[in-house]
Amino acid sequence: MTAPSPDVSRWSIVEGLKHYLKCNEFSYLEASMPRDFLKDAKDRYDVVVIGSGLAGLTSANILARQGRSVLLLEQHYKLGGMATWFKRPGGHIFDISLHGFPFGMVKSCRRYWTKEIAESIVQLDGVRFDNPMFSLWTSFTREDFTKQLIEKFKLEPQVVDAFFDTARGMNFYDDQQMTTGELFEKFFPGREDVIRLLMEPITYANGSTLEDPAISYGIVFSNFMSKGVFTFQGGTDKLIGQMEAELKHNGVDICINSNVQKIDVERGKVTSVEVNDKTIHCDAIVSNANVRQTIFDLVGEEKFDGNFIDDAKAVRLNNSSTQVYMALEEEDRLDVNELGDLLFSSEAPYFRTEALLSRDVTSRTYSFYYPKTRPHKKPRCLIVSSTNAKFEDWAPLPEVDYEASKQDLCETTLDALDKYVPNVRERVVHVEASTPRSFKHYTNHPAGASFGTKFEGLAVSRALPKQITGLYHAGSVGIIMSGWLGAMNYGVIVANEVDSQLMTNSSASTAGFEKSVAEDVAS
Ligand SMILES: Cc1cc2nc3c(=O)[nH]c(=O)nc-3n(C[C@H](O)[C@H](O)[C@H](O)COP(=O)(O)OP(=O)(O)OC[C@H]3O[C@@H](n4cnc5c(N)ncnc54)[C@H](O)[C@@H]3O)c2cc1C
Repeated sequence: MTAPSPDVSRWSIVEGLKHYLKCNEFSYLEASMPRDFLKDAKDRYDVVVIGSGLAGLTSANILARQGRSVLLLEQHYKLGGMATWFKRPGGHIFDISLHGFPFGMVKSCRRYWTKEIAESIVQLDGVRFDNPMFSLWTSFTREDFTKQLIEKFKLEPQVVDAFFDTARGMNFYDDQQMTTGELFEKFFPGREDVIRLLMEPITYANGSTLEDPAISYGIVFSNFMSKGVFTFQGGTDKLIGQMEAELKHNGVDICINSNVQKIDVERGKVTSVEVNDKTIHCDAIVSNANVRQTIFDLVGEEKFDGNFIDDAKAVRLNNSSTQVYMALEEEDRLDVNELGDLLFSSEAPYFRTEALLSRDVTSRTYSFYYPKTRPHKKPRCLIVSSTNAKFEDWAPLPEVDYEASKQDLCETTLDALDKYVPNVRERVVHVEASTPRSFKHYTNHPAGASFGTKFEGLAVSRALPKQITGLYHAGSVGIIMSGWLGAMNYGVIVANEVDSQLMTNSSASTAGFEKSVAEDVAS
């Protein structure tokens, strides 16, 4: 995602133009001529994958490895979806969603991508919390959390163990009645500080709330607790570049700037997609677009059962985000031992989901990027501040107010950050913000949803092939299948279902395989 309009007060028009010409992969001359982005695409494929988020990319790769002919269509000019980056003059490269993921990514990348990708995954050095209830550093592992909960929060060891065992024991097939709030109440009644420690990072990580099913919390939390928080050394640009090379190596045809307008369905079966005024035929489609968009915009509700449509209409979108991207002077360095990699900071007296979403921002997650993030590039230090946000707070703003609100977001973030990075205002050479509007613009997600849909979206996504033969969805739904690891693993599950359907031309059960991926995700 290229972030929205740069801060022109700090960035001259001439510099901007030069940068545009350099960063865009096609020349000015080419850009001024109409281009056929589908010129290399064939008329028919086994599978068309719509969207190149991590789920779409992974599905495409697995299906191609399984010998299927695959076309990957992406509406943006870059692959990656939310797993993206943008460049600014001075050698600054900002990552949008490379803040942290669980260790499970190593196994998934090794199995479903390449050894090289898996080997670039490294652990974060330090995770910090700083809020009015407590300040602490943690390795974000079960061992360290247990120690802190016993020593700092004065909890009984057997209660802490029982909580971790319960969270760890939760899986995909469990009862979904208990909410996360009820889970906490059971183990830590009245302990708002403990709930904040356990919940705040997960809310940031996937937008989940105390009202969501406890399994969605338990699985994601336990994934992180297994070994800590990890990142991709080399940056998102390197990761997506390696993935693109692997896809091409496996024979996937890739077309960017290709916005699918319609999925054609005849007699209950997918037949083709309509994209850039062309029709491309296929036996199966994996849509990595938002599940609601897939159903209502790409297929059309008249193609589904009424009851299914009622369920689909009831699927709630997840929240969106705002981010502020800040680059320090070339020579300026941040110290990882002082700041850590990830800092969950809040000025709110208590943890409240509403406060995390409010435009009156009191909570921010800072990611600090050091030269170690991209050892192969010019050494640079960057900071990205992320906050959960609601689309409706930003959508209706007239352009002037919108720009002013973004400016205000930048200013208030600099003020808040000064506590951790003294004189930051004087030290930054570039500051800009993105909002829920930016996320919608660059990924097509309705309301700029950062993490797809709420939990009920998972059942609707899973039911698609039972409604229309050959129609599948893989992408952020239901928290468990969101985030880098969740999206990637969902791509794996769906690719194997598609392959199975193509093999038998029936909706053969892949429950055994699905269970093994679910176990992988939780290990
Ligand atoms: C600010 C932010 C921070 C995040 N931080 C983290 C983090 O630290 N760790 C983590 O694990 N996760 C994080 N995430 C979440 C993570 O990035 C996403 O859950 C994951 O990348 C989503 O992958 P996906 O496969 O669901 O697809 P998406 O990334 O949503 O991509 C969908 C793709 O489909 C394309 N598309 C849509 N419609 C069409 C169409 N009609 N035709 C063609 N193409 C189409 C879009 O352009 C897009 O490329 C963050 C997300 C955000 C927004």
